[in-house]
Amino acid sequence: MVIINDFNIKKQADELGISVWKTPSFLFIVMGIVVMAAMTLVYFISRDKSSPELLILSEIIVVIVIMSIGNSVIQSVEQIAKVNKMKSDFISIVSHQLKTPPTEISWEIELLLAEYKGELNNKQLEIISSISEANRRIVKLTNDLLDVARFDQGRFILNKEKINIAEIIREVIQNNLIMAQANNVRIEFSNNGTIPEIIGDKKRIGVVVDNFLTNAIKYTKEKGKVGIEARQQGDNLVVSVKDNGVGIPESQKDKVFDKFFRSDNVVKYNTEGSGLGLYIAKKIIESSKGKIWFDTKEGQGSTFYFSLPIMTEA
Ligand code: ADP
Repeated sequence: MVIINDFNIKKQADELGISVWKTPSFLFIVMGIVVMAAMTLVYFISRDKSSPELLILSEIIVVIVIMSIGNSVIQSVEQIAKVNKMKSDFISIVSHQLKTPPTEISWEIELLLAEYKGELNNKQLEIISSISEANRRIVKLTNDLLDVARFDQGRFILNKEKINIAEIIREVIQNNLIMAQANNVRIEFSNNGTIPEIIGDKKRIGVVVDNFLTNAIKYTKEKGKVGIEARQQGDNLVVSVKDNGVGIPESQKDKVFDKFFRSDNVVKYNTEGSGLGLYIAKKIIESSKGKIWFDTKEGQGSTFYFSLPIMTEA
């Protein structure tokens, strides 16, 4: 199957955004055919012992042809690598520029509420709350794009600090309470026994918990119930977020952690989402030497998990 996919040249050309005859697979096949034809030709020429000059000449021609095709393969791969780098640089620069205005908007909203909250009526407060929510989504998307660019450029760095996972979970729940209430979803947090402190990046682990929780809320329709659990299991700390939501179709389960993936059953009714949250979560957890996985059943719900090694020394 992998071999067939590797040689699905049209699909590869579409994915890479180049013409079919420039794809590495196509050039590779052409090279194979040329080598076979050349070897056959050389074999026939070598049978004619009377003309060694012809044999040498034909071998030189074969080498030149193979080197030319090899050069095309290298150029094609170089071009793909260059375009990929340009794309990452572009995302990184644009995201940096995009970050400043929403940050300023947040400050202005905070200032407005701090100084004039008492003078505003309910309708005005509601409008400000909608602006604030839309702004929060822009901030999240630009942060996600920046993280993706950092991964692609190999510039993603994690802090190492002592973290208390229960504290992080409570903070994330608090930040998502309004969204949960708006979606009619109840959140329950249980931590079985004492949860040891671990070494990790507090902000990034918070991002993973936040991605799990916002998904559980977003993809749960009615009478939603989300259970978050943190527990020690052997040498690991396991965090799970369970919902009774829409679940993920069986046929799409293997794409869940892919960049920009959104399942068919959610795009229909929930247009908000970039498909970057779980891709980023996987990168963060795996860069922290942990594991990430999920169970799901379409129409019944999902549970997303991550585990991190319990280490007290960085
Ligand atoms: P986003 O939520 O922005 O679309 P994510 O990367 O967080 O992106 O999730 C990717 C996709 O995985 C979602 O679009 C959705 O199809 C599916 N998914 C993630 N979490 C859940 C969940 N708890 N229940 C159902 N589907 C989910």
